[in-house]
Amino acid sequence: MIYLNGEFMPIEKAFIPGLDRGFIFGDGVYEVIPVYSRLPFRLGGHLERLQASLDSIRLHNPHAEDKWRQLIGRLIELNEPEDQSLYLQVTRGVARRDHAFPATTTPTVFLMSNPLLPPTANQIENGVGAITAPDNRWLRCDVKSTALLPNVLLRQLAIDAGCAETLLLRDGQLTEGAASNAFVVSNGIILAPPKSNLMLPGITYDLVLELAEANDVAYEVRNITETEMAKADEIWITSSSREILPITTLNGKPVGGGRPGPVFQRMHGLYQEYKAQVMRAATA
Ligand code: PMP
Repeated sequence: MIYLNGEFMPIEKAFIPGLDRGFIFGDGVYEVIPVYSRLPFRLGGHLERLQASLDSIRLHNPHAEDKWRQLIGRLIELNEPEDQSLYLQVTRGVARRDHAFPATTTPTVFLMSNPLLPPTANQIENGVGAITAPDNRWLRCDVKSTALLPNVLLRQLAIDAGCAETLLLRDGQLTEGAASNAFVVSNGIILAPPKSNLMLPGITYDLVLELAEANDVAYEVRNITETEMAKADEIWITSSSREILPITTLNGKPVGGGRPGPVFQRMHGLYQEYKAQVMRAATA
């Protein structure tokens, strides 16, 4: 079941007009929210980032926060899996094709749910491969825009190389992954690229740093060079669907010892503990 402009319906019944600006221009923004045991995880953060994305593209938020929470709650109920990946998208609606904003806008609101596919036990145990590529995206990577052609092409480079993610370098510095944030561990310290217009402010990125801070795990938020990546003890990627995933080969070479490292193990444990705690609190 999906939600489209006021109605819940099976996905087969959902049609978007050909002139929707999301289809014509990629003129829209989106969120992906993980749902564990039917509870949306860090929903407040996702709705806040949605507001920031809408503000950036100068599109009025069609719903107040309560209404979003209500729609999301209902969609979770209408779908079977206990763990879901909830997708929501808002576009600048349907209008005659013209780059300029239409005089009046009725945004298109679309929500769907897919089964949540977290990393496999094998991926957590052994890590995954990544490659690097020049970050050739625009200069507003902080906006969670549906216009993802560069990310699509960059991710495909990884798939073509038999890897799981492409890590992006701009002016010799790590920005993020094609669909994830990236962390490096050097001399036992977690390094995180600083938030800027060059990366998406990840909800999982925030949680990793929050957990590091709360548990006295050393971290620094600063620029990371390509050379530091090549010499890193550990590299991880994070996202709402992949949680924290260790990268054990980079461009075909082992990262550190070529196995998920001790700082990853610690952070992965803290992350799972936090998740369990949030769920216990919600059902108490
Ligand atoms: N950067 C990019 C480009 C992404 O697509 C994603 C995943 N949506 C992330 C970072 C991670 O963000 P989050 O932790 O909020 O899923």
